[in-house]
Amino acid sequence: MTPKELAWAFIKAYTSAHNEPFTKGSVFGRTDTLQNLRARLGVERDKIMDDSAALFEFAKECLSSTTVLFDLGLDALNKEELGALVPLALHMCARYGTKDTLAESVLDTVARQFPELLHQDIRDVFQLSCDSPYGAFEKAWRGLDRASLEFFKNKLTSTEWDRGEASRLERGELTIKRKLLKTLLASRDKETIEFVYQYMLENRPLIAERLKNREDYQRFLDVSIEDVGFTRRGGEIVSCCPSASYHFVFQKYYYFRGKRRRHATETLEPVTPCLEFGGVLEEGENPLCHLITLEPIPAGIKISGLRRLVLGVHLRETDMSIPFYQHDQNGYPVKIKDASNEVREEDRCHNFPIKPSTVAFAPTPQRWILQEWEDGNGNMFKLGGEPAWIQSPDIQTCPVCGEKMDFLMQLDNGLPDMDKERKDGEVWWGSGGMCYVLWCDKCNVSAYVMQCT
Ligand SMILES: [Zn+2]
Repeated sequence: MTPKELAWAFIKAYTSAHNEPFTKGSVFGRTDTLQNLRARLGVERDKIMDDSAALFEFAKECLSSTTVLFDLGLDALNKEELGALVPLALHMCARYGTKDTLAESVLDTVARQFPELLHQDIRDVFQLSCDSPYGAFEKAWRGLDRASLEFFKNKLTSTEWDRGEASRLERGELTIKRKLLKTLLASRDKETIEFVYQYMLENRPLIAERLKNREDYQRFLDVSIEDVGFTRRGGEIVSCCPSASYHFVFQKYYYFRGKRRRHATETLEPVTPCLEFGGVLEEGENPLCHLITLEPIPAGIKISGLRRLVLGVHLRETDMSIPFYQHDQNGYPVKIKDASNEVREEDRCHNFPIKPSTVAFAPTPQRWILQEWEDGNGNMFKLGGEPAWIQSPDIQTCPVCGEKMDFLMQLDNGLPDMDKERKDGEVWWGSGGMCYVLWCDKCNVSAYVMQCT
């Protein structure tokens, strides 16, 4: 049985045998024996039972990696199969609640990968989210029709504020009102975002009681819209993400050296020529490390004044500061020095340059446009599209023009480095995180933001 068939049988068994709540890990809990597992998967007996070795391996993996494998299994299903799980998952959530269930994983996955599959049930989906203090399935609101958006806008303005708002917020819970804000913003519909932004401006004391001063509240508003790929520039709300999205395609054995599962985003077909990647631009104690030279610049990436762009950064400074570079006519980076990004020699971290190679780009299939940073989620190396922030969104302000920048590229951790002493050294971005490259197209300025868990 292939892993895909196993995952499918597994999911079907879970979602169709709904005579008890299935919590993450409970069926494959530590006390479960293989026998127990067989009994519980009885509904799919014919399909799955004749390969007990494969089943055992699968169960074992579930024991050690809990939902990661389940989620990976969902990533391996096709649209039709996922669509077939939606009614079951909705039923399961309605019956047992959304907290910590595998059915919730199904809805989360579908919301992120095929939001349209949830549109006809969008009011039920919202109702379900109301029963959960945390989740909102908000990614399902992408591409929603006008009438439905209007419905939720009206709901936002007509819903009463929750009396316990402040104390619930302290606990990190989302009230109905906050869910409505979150879902409407997540539609990524400009008009809707402008509406919500205005509403939030006018309802400040109720939305964020704790944020007493003006700047804190403004930062809160900025993060709310940056979380869905928009920012404020020149008083307007605009997209800060390139319209095109590409995934990196590495040379064989360079990055996915058999250490990871093969996710669909790791095996995409490149459409660009191979571009120079890694190495060093300027040697020294604190080398200017080369990331990539975009020549040509792939279509749909918002770089208008240059024919080529050389992205390079002092990697030893990225843990302690956010370095900015101004690019000359040839696209070459020169560091913008100011007091805010000076890193003392003793505070520099020990990052080594990235091992040189070449990479090409493959257009991101629609399904993988929104990825979340978590283990086992496939290829997280992207040019353009929307970033997957590990922490709060952090769109920087350009030091030259004072306006918010655009997102340009993100690099995951684990790239081989040039440490001569350790053959298997990797670039970690702090304790294991991601590097986000931002761009101001007006000033040809790049910035490097590192985030980790
Ligand atoms: Zn600028």
